[in-house]
Amino acid sequence: MNLVSFSIKTKGIHNFVRRLWTAFTRFGISHARTQRALHAVVDALRDYNGAPTFFIPAVVLARHPKLIAEIAHCGAEIGIHGYVHNDYRCLSESEQYEQTQQAISVFQRTLIPYEGFRNPYLGWTEESLHVFTSLGFTYDSNDAVFHDIVDLERYPILLRNSYEKSLTHLSGNSV
Ligand SMILES: [Zn+2]
Repeated sequence: MNLVSFSIKTKGIHNFVRRLWTAFTRFGISHARTQRALHAVVDALRDYNGAPTFFIPAVVLARHPKLIAEIAHCGAEIGIHGYVHNDYRCLSESEQYEQTQQAISVFQRTLIPYEGFRNPYLGWTEESLHVFTSLGFTYDSNDAVFHDIVDLERYPILLRNSYEKSLTHLSGNSV
């Protein structure tokens, strides 16, 4: 069973932020607010000598290259989260390869360094591992750990719904 992590250091916060990002972009909330939210996470983790990893689909990077470069410059790692946000479990190995390569070309074109890959919906297959290895990724990040420390009552309904939706996705997966 996959779980969502809220450990400050690595997994979790960025997953949560990913959901925030999805919410922001889906509902058209302003660039400035997204920028503030991303900086807030980077700043909060700096107090613990940590840095977040934001996994983003390459099309998001293509739309916001300056913002992503700025966040990366502040110390965040940017990981690849597909070319578009689709489920690799529905793709053949060659389709996975092609889309991952397309994603890499956007990262290379915008000069954003990357090392890791996280599948949208944490949906990966054995073939994904061949693809990641052959394209030179140093890691994939598809395991999540859940720490039950989030007080959902403190968050607006939109974020609460996104969070609960994430958990639903995760509980449907097996490691
Ligand atoms: Zn995602």
